[in-house]
Amino acid sequence: MAHKINETKVDLRSDTVTQPTPAMRAAMLAAPLGDDVFGDDPSVNALQDKLARMLGFAAALFVPTGTQSNLCAILAHCQRGDEYIVGQYAHCYRWEGGGAAVLGSVQPQPLTHQSDGTLPLADIEAAIKPDDEHFARTRLLALENTLGGKLLPFEYLQQATALAKSRGLSCHLDGARLFNAAVAQAAQAGTDAVAAGPPQGGGAIHEARRIAQCFDSVSVCLSKGLGAPVGSVLCGSQDFIARAHRIRKMAGGGMRQAGLLAAAGTYALDHHIARLADDHALINRLAQGLSGLPDLVVESPQTNILFVDLVGAAKARAPELIPYLAARGILLTGLYRLRFVTHLDVDAAGIERTVAAMRDFLLARP
Ligand SMILES: *Cc1c(COP(=O)(O)O)cnc(C)c1O
Repeated sequence: MAHKINETKVDLRSDTVTQPTPAMRAAMLAAPLGDDVFGDDPSVNALQDKLARMLGFAAALFVPTGTQSNLCAILAHCQRGDEYIVGQYAHCYRWEGGGAAVLGSVQPQPLTHQSDGTLPLADIEAAIKPDDEHFARTRLLALENTLGGKLLPFEYLQQATALAKSRGLSCHLDGARLFNAAVAQAAQAGTDAVAAGPPQGGGAIHEARRIAQCFDSVSVCLSKGLGAPVGSVLCGSQDFIARAHRIRKMAGGGMRQAGLLAAAGTYALDHHIARLADDHALINRLAQGLSGLPDLVVESPQTNILFVDLVGAAKARAPELIPYLAARGILLTGLYRLRFVTHLDVDAAGIERTVAAMRDFLLARP
């Protein structure tokens, strides 16, 4: 592997922690630059064109963060006094400071997820308000895939978005980890993510496009499992992206020689999609290693995120666990419910170390 894994730390806190590889850095340094506020940065334009084409949209917009991408999307779909239907645990409801409400006067209508991450179709239907001055205008359904590492069933995406469209709503996908979903879906379909034809990750790209095409707009993070240092891309129609562009400017997201960053994203799309399968394999290995240990309830991971609950004696000692692991160079988040995330900078040796450290902690009963 050309990329040097960090030998001292095993950082399982998030797939956002990846460092750009030497080859990605070289691509960044070689990128032709312009001024993207004038629209003439060729590397930004190339990234936008590439992802729009890959996912089957007319246009795309490079934005600094996934949060700003979702904000631009919600405000481009909705007016003041409109509302969007969204899950309780969705990033664009729970983890973005209420931005759509604060900055756009767009009200969320949060719904409770089922255990597989979906929102019940009947609940979506019941949440769509009649056209009556008492109610906010229900304008948008916002889904997330993957959600907490869960792959939403493709048939569900088709049904939920068909329902929303039949009631005149637009549909937005927070696909921060769209390509993790696509790689997992390609594996389910028995399509080899690598071998299904050019470009690299052909099977996964086919699945990503099928997922994306259920929606009017899709936001993809480059800075998560894809391994770029910064950035997200919002895709949609020409008109939608023109509106989103105005909101990006208002939000202070117009960047100048942004091609330096966009080139990392293009590199990631060219080289880091198929390899997400490695992250999924490693998280499975971690889940298997941990499932033999006492006082843990280990979920079955579907992509690159694993949740593990501490129970019994381990629960009582939970506050000691994160510092114990950190002292051994292993970083993760949680307390009673631990979250492990695999990515480009985690290898099999790091997973073995993590299992061994967890075993030592759990078997060293005070
Ligand atoms: C990380 C993430 C975002 C936001 O990304 P930032 O770049 O951190 O703002 C949005 N949605 C989901 C599902 C995410 O995981």
